[in-house]
Amino acid sequence: MKTLPQINYLFSLLPITPTDNWFQTLNSLTTQFYWKNKKSRISLSTLQNSKPQGGLEAPNFLYYFLSNQLQYLLKWIHTDQSSPPWLQIEQNHCKTTSLSDLPFLPQSIKKQDYYNNITVSSTLTAWWKAHEITKSSLAPCRLSPMWHNPDFQLYNTPVYFPSWQHKGITHLHHLFENNQFISFNTLIQKYGVGRDQFLQYQQLKSIIKSKINTSNNILQSSYLSEEIFKITTPKKIISKMYKLFSLSETSITLPTTKWEKDLALPPNLDFWIQINKNIFSMTTNTNLQLIQYKTIHRIHITQGKMFKMGLISTDICSQCTLGHTDDYLHATWSCQPVLSFWITVTETLSCILGCRIPASPTLCLLGDLTHITIPTKHNNPLLISLTIAKKIIFQNWKSKHSCHIT
Ligand SMILES: [Zn+2]
Repeated sequence: MKTLPQINYLFSLLPITPTDNWFQTLNSLTTQFYWKNKKSRISLSTLQNSKPQGGLEAPNFLYYFLSNQLQYLLKWIHTDQSSPPWLQIEQNHCKTTSLSDLPFLPQSIKKQDYYNNITVSSTLTAWWKAHEITKSSLAPCRLSPMWHNPDFQLYNTPVYFPSWQHKGITHLHHLFENNQFISFNTLIQKYGVGRDQFLQYQQLKSIIKSKINTSNNILQSSYLSEEIFKITTPKKIISKMYKLFSLSETSITLPTTKWEKDLALPPNLDFWIQINKNIFSMTTNTNLQLIQYKTIHRIHITQGKMFKMGLISTDICSQCTLGHTDDYLHATWSCQPVLSFWITVTETLSCILGCRIPASPTLCLLGDLTHITIPTKHNNPLLISLTIAKKIIFQNWKSKHSCHIT
């Protein structure tokens, strides 16, 4: 794909956040390209999903944009001697607030002068958007800075005790021990805070307890923070971050409800993940993978669907005498010529593989191997053969009596 590197190059260079409309336009153009300007039969968001979740891992431009922006945020965190010169420029804009603290401050810092810096604001906007996508919390955590933090206010001003800062108390985790707010005596022993600072101690304790729920594991950073800060080397940094966003999507984007209703299957997430995995593990041939993928997603147009679209006057199957609505299960399985074809296919495969291959729709259509007993080495050849059988059915979609194997 030629376009993605070009867009990525712009994403990495330009410190501006494209509007939602811009991404929608890009997605719309991508969809038109994928479906050759025809109506899409699988949504772009489904195609962008990970393969076990029912997608084809098509590029998600928003995720690439966020990944590119967040690579700069990692520079804020992992400062070292090789830090680029722009880091010092951004730090100068932020004055007393450390760049490494910015990701752990609330969104109300938009009112601060340093947020007017376009590079700082675009990185922070990407960071907050990434939290939305990964359903991570921006609540105060162990890495939240104590001082100049709008989350912790005293008399409507962010609290700041300079002498405490000089003694090394800078972040929330300095004020907690075993998930409990530190005692005043421990604070004195550990940091050398003066005994005359008890009032400040009580003020700080009150402020923090009003902001966080001490019954939970308050020191836990957000999922995104924990995962993103594990990335310590610049190698493949964009793809590592992109993967983080992709993996945050856990729902299955398949017409599972329709299949479960048609085949009387109980809802089972793991079952569908395995069905999806089988599509791509059975063969490296992308044409066959696509046939199976399209089957699972039920994208083929049946007479029933055409009737609903107002294109034909009846939804009754015209290719058999059952008088049944030509829905997806009928067209791919129970229609008389199709079922005869499947019986021939499974009987032939039983002879070839030397074991019983049942004429079952969950096996033949979905590629579910859990209810048959065959040697593992036969799994992929069986799934490939069944996919080729489906290819024959789709090739003879309008004249199903022509389905046969020679
Ligand atoms: Zn029929």
